[in-house]
Amino acid sequence: MGKMRRKTRTINVGGVKIGSHFPVRIQSMTKTDTRDVRKTVAQIKELEKCGCEIVRVAVKDKLAARAIKKIKRKIRVPLVADIHFDFHLALEAIKNNADKIRINPGNISNPEHLKEIIGAAKKKRVPIRIGLNSGSLVPMDESLPAGQAGTKGRKDDSFIKTALKYIKFFEKQDFHDIIISLKSSSVPETVSVYRKLAVLCDYPLHLGVTAAGSYNTGIVKSAIGIGALLLDGIGDTIRVSLTEDPVEEVIAAKRILQAVDVRRFGPEIISCPTCGRCQVDLLRITAALESAFRGTRDEGRGTNVKIAVMGCEVNGPGEAREADVGIAFGKGFGMLFKKGKIIKKIKTRNAVKELLKCVGHKP
Ligand code: SF4
Repeated sequence: MGKMRRKTRTINVGGVKIGSHFPVRIQSMTKTDTRDVRKTVAQIKELEKCGCEIVRVAVKDKLAARAIKKIKRKIRVPLVADIHFDFHLALEAIKNNADKIRINPGNISNPEHLKEIIGAAKKKRVPIRIGLNSGSLVPMDESLPAGQAGTKGRKDDSFIKTALKYIKFFEKQDFHDIIISLKSSSVPETVSVYRKLAVLCDYPLHLGVTAAGSYNTGIVKSAIGIGALLLDGIGDTIRVSLTEDPVEEVIAAKRILQAVDVRRFGPEIISCPTCGRCQVDLLRITAALESAFRGTRDEGRGTNVKIAVMGCEVNGPGEAREADVGIAFGKGFGMLFKKGKIIKKIKTRNAVKELLKCVGHKP
């Protein structure tokens, strides 16, 4: 069990509330050209279907900013406009009904430009994520050169100092609809800076390890970085960044949240790694079980159903007995356990169907 959740303000992103009074929200980002409305809507619909709660799109020019209005008519989730370099694009995205703006002060740092964005956002009550990246750090303090290297401690301090300066600047414009992210591709740096900032402000924090990498590497880095912070009670919305289909990002995010017991999206599936004793295709059975629960919505932290699928009779009966429902397989058959008791012997080919029936899963 992790620590108590860090207390934050609540920020409303197009009807989805972010902050400590609400579940840690799952975000992803489309990988289509935002100007291609048809393809972008199709990808967002896929993301909605698998449980993504907020979607971000890249806005690299005015046409992309204008496409937001058309995209929004066809989707249900709130849409965030990701803006770099040109503050006009932020204004255009706000005009075209973006539910939130993400700006990177590393490339939009001119105070006058920021004031214009803040003014427009305030008028339409659009929140802004101040999304700092360690690779493009531009301190609002001329004494600290951009992308300042140096010792780890000093780099962290520079990161935090820069974030606080931007926060103060936004507050000075009487703007408090802020979410902060401090991403780095280094897991230790990410964890360290978020921990430091967490005690210095009460804005919701968007967690992520930036450019985490391809499927396996990215999941490991994100699980450690995001997971460590969530266990500290830090983090209000997460994005797992993978060089992969964004649906995989959402599935990974759900698994991270479930592993640290922050949210639950279906049963915990316990499966043995298999070995020379295994006499069934446990990979196929586990994959079929996982896919049956793939799109499961939040079931709340209290629901903790365990399903065990074990390859043989060595550890099989023990694990199967400890889970709510389990199967210990033999050759061509399996013993089905429910709440510690054998309830019947089943054919291997019926295993998934029987397990799903036992936990009352409706496809
Ligand atoms: S439960 Fe059986 S098949 Fe699975 S790893 Fe253990 S000994 Fe091997």
